[in-house]
Amino acid sequence: MTHAIELRDLHKYFGSNEVLKGIDLTVEPGQVVCVIGPSGSGKSTLLRCVNLLEEPTKGKVFVKGAELTHPDVDIDAARRHIGMVFQQFNLFPHMTALQNVMIAQQRVLKRGKREAEIVARENLDKVGVGEKCDSLPGQLSGGQQQRVAIARALAMNPELMLFDEPTSALDPELVGDVLTVMRKLAEEGMTMLVVTHEMGFAREVADRVVFMDGGVIVEDGVPAQVIGEPQQERTRTFLHRVL
Ligand code: ADP
Ligand code: MG
Repeated sequence: MTHAIELRDLHKYFGSNEVLKGIDLTVEPGQVVCVIGPSGSGKSTLLRCVNLLEEPTKGKVFVKGAELTHPDVDIDAARRHIGMVFQQFNLFPHMTALQNVMIAQQRVLKRGKREAEIVARENLDKVGVGEKCDSLPGQLSGGQQQRVAIARALAMNPELMLFDEPTSALDPELVGDVLTVMRKLAEEGMTMLVVTHEMGFAREVADRVVFMDGGVIVEDGVPAQVIGEPQQERTRTFLHRVL
C-alpha cells in the first residue's frame, strides 16, 4: 500500500541550528496522526516540511508515493493536494468569508466563479458557518474564522490536511466548535497530520500520537500507549505538565 505521507531521515537546519534530527514518519491513508511535544521541539517545522513550505536540509518527503523532495517535482502542483490550517487563520481581511474560500479555487485551480461559489458555499455549510458567507473576518469570532480557513482548505479537494495548532489562538469556549469539525473530517476518512495540545482530541480521535522533543521523535504509537502509558521519561515529564 502507498503511504499517504512518508518522511525518511528528515533533517532541517536553520543556520547551524539542527531543528529536525532525522525524522522517520509514515501516515497511512485515512489515518489521523497527532504530533505533541514542547514548544521549540520542531513540530511546526516538521509539518512545514511535508508540503515543502520549509525545504528539508537532508532526507526525503513522499506524499502518496510521489517524492516531493525530488529536484524535478513541480512543488506548486504537489502542494495543491495538501491542505494546511495554521494557528493564525490568515484570512484576507478585506474579503468576505465566501470570497476567502473562492479565491484560491479561482486562481490556483482555475475554477470559474460559479463553480467556485458553489464549492465555497458547500464547504462553509459543512463547517457550520454557511450563514456567515457575507461577513468579513473581523466580524467573525476566532472559531468562526478558523472554520472559514478549514473550509478554504477543503474547497481545494485536498488529499490530506495538515493542522498546526489550529485551536491554540482561540478563546477556550470556541475550541470545541473547531475540534468538532476536525473530528467530523476524521470520521469521513480524511488523512490528517495534526500538531495539537488538545490531549482529549488526540486521545479520542488520533489513530497514532507522536511525541517530539528536541527535533527527534521520542515515541510513536496508539494514544492509549503514548498518552496513557508513556515509555520514555521525556514523554512522561511533558504529559505531567500539560495534563
Ligand atoms: P514547535 O512548533 O515545536 O514549537 P518549531 O518547529 O516552530 O517548533 O521551531 C523549532 C526550532 O526551530 C526553534 O528553535 C525555532 O526557533 C527554530 N526555527 C523555526 N523556524 C525558524 C526559522 N524560519 N528560522 C530560524 N529558526 C527557526
Ligand atoms: Mg509550532
